[in-house]
Amino acid sequence: MSAASKVMHYNGKKSFKLMIVDDSNIMRRRIERSNQFNELELVGTAGNGVEALEIFKKTDPDVVTMDLTMPQMDGIECISKIVALKPAVRILVISALADKATAVEAMEKGANGFLNKPFTDRQLNEAIADLMR
Ligand SMILES: [Mg+2]
Repeated sequence: MSAASKVMHYNGKKSFKLMIVDDSNIMRRRIERSNQFNELELVGTAGNGVEALEIFKKTDPDVVTMDLTMPQMDGIECISKIVALKPAVRILVISALADKATAVEAMEKGANGFLNKPFTDRQLNEAIADLMR
């Protein structure tokens, strides 16, 4: 596994487990830092879809932020596989793709929201709040 892939210890103090998936280290850190949610505890990060599936199986996240363009396995394929494992999972796609068709495809595969890059902390937190509703 690459350095992008990490499993964090879940101490159970928060209600929902969060996994961040993005091939950019800067973007993973950005999402991690701007997460203002008291209910969400980060349990893992991954740098591509293959790693995301491995981390998902180990940590059983409730909420996932998902990049679309990544090496090895892209976000669209990863969303399908994660939803097959856990239909109740909440997935927020965070992608630079302004392509509406791709966003629609992600939603069809089971994603629950879409946030366009670049974004502000406020936009991210609102998108996650919408996801949790
Ligand atoms: Mg990417």
